[in-house]
Amino acid sequence: MPDDIIYVTRPSLPPREDVMSFLDEVWDSRFVTNGGPIHQRFEAALAAYLDVPYVTLTANATLGCMLALRHLGVTGEVITPAFSFVATAHAVNWVGADLVFADIDPVTLSIDPADVERRITPKTRAIFAVHCYANPCDTQALADIAKRHGLALIYDAAHCFAAKDEGGSLLRHGDLSVVSFHATKVFSTLEGGAIISHDLETKQALDRLCNYGIVDESNVDSVGLNAKMSEMHAAVGLAQLAHVDRDIALREQVVQRYWDRLKDVDGIRCICPPDHPGRNNYAFPIVVEPDYPLSCRTLHERLKENGIHARRYFYPLLSQLPMYRDLPSADPQGLPQAIGASKKVMCLPLYPDLAPEDQDRVLDMICNPPACDWAPQPYAFDVMQTPAGYIREDLDRVQNSCA
Ligand SMILES: *Cc1c(COP(=O)(O)O)cnc(C)c1O
Repeated sequence: MPDDIIYVTRPSLPPREDVMSFLDEVWDSRFVTNGGPIHQRFEAALAAYLDVPYVTLTANATLGCMLALRHLGVTGEVITPAFSFVATAHAVNWVGADLVFADIDPVTLSIDPADVERRITPKTRAIFAVHCYANPCDTQALADIAKRHGLALIYDAAHCFAAKDEGGSLLRHGDLSVVSFHATKVFSTLEGGAIISHDLETKQALDRLCNYGIVDESNVDSVGLNAKMSEMHAAVGLAQLAHVDRDIALREQVVQRYWDRLKDVDGIRCICPPDHPGRNNYAFPIVVEPDYPLSCRTLHERLKENGIHARRYFYPLLSQLPMYRDLPSADPQGLPQAIGASKKVMCLPLYPDLAPEDQDRVLDMICNPPACDWAPQPYAFDVMQTPAGYIREDLDRVQNSCA
């Protein structure tokens, strides 16, 4: 096992001195949280940078999603993609609504509007969509469906910092959108997130929800949470904002190098090429198709053995988790694309300062996968036995390639 491990991501941090000058202000003022001066500056700077009307900073995007659902009074059934990060489904569960999984589009891997429409019942209250890897959902179709059926439309836009479509920021869509500033995302405050809203009244209601629902010294108007962002986190964000354009440009170079070498590899399909619609170069997911010599799972293991930690993002599928797999909508029959994606998609290491030599290690492994080192062994009743570490899917490939 090589000791120079390449991780799937590595947070970009602003220069220490930049953060320190903000921290001096915090220490001097003793204003450490509760919407202090740095929080206010960061919030305003973000709204300008993202070109969105109103920003409510949160301690993380998961709480942001819960409060967005809560603010819109979402109970009843919420339709959400089966292929996403666990926080998407958990947020719905935490607000006490009923999860209804929908399938995804095989090209964008974001929610399939036709399947959303099929799953609407009289109990449906909201669509909670995800722009997967900042690949825009069919926002027009989802807005039409929400309007026709009188549903709330909320976007888990965790991946979408600085992502755009033809009309502007991806974060402008829906009643509310929630973006994450977790360390693994394009832009980070270490932990953090924001809810994007369209009018001041909503922003202020969301601000109160982040602070226990407190209005003033003698009034509490809603069942809020403590979801505030502290001055320390806002300071990291304010310092980092000055560097995010450079980070995204550096990520673009990494994406371009992946694309140049992988675009013609048989069996590897790239979902977010350098010119993909919502591009912010957040991730470089590949689909490992049946004509690639290894399954996604085995390729992932082989990479890991060589010190390359790619990530099967998203695996396992939400609808196969123990707490959700018995839901009627978790029936695999209804989720063929989501199941396929969870078996075949893997995100490659991607961060602004990924060294070209390290990226070449990843690319060399994928372009020249380890030769088939075993042949299928006949087994009783015509079932083939696969050596440990290989799965049935690899066996099928091996029979085509080197049996
Ligand atoms: C990262 C992520 C979240 C959670 O964001 P946090 O800020 O870590 O709470 C939610 N949804 C998706 C799709 C994510 O990738």
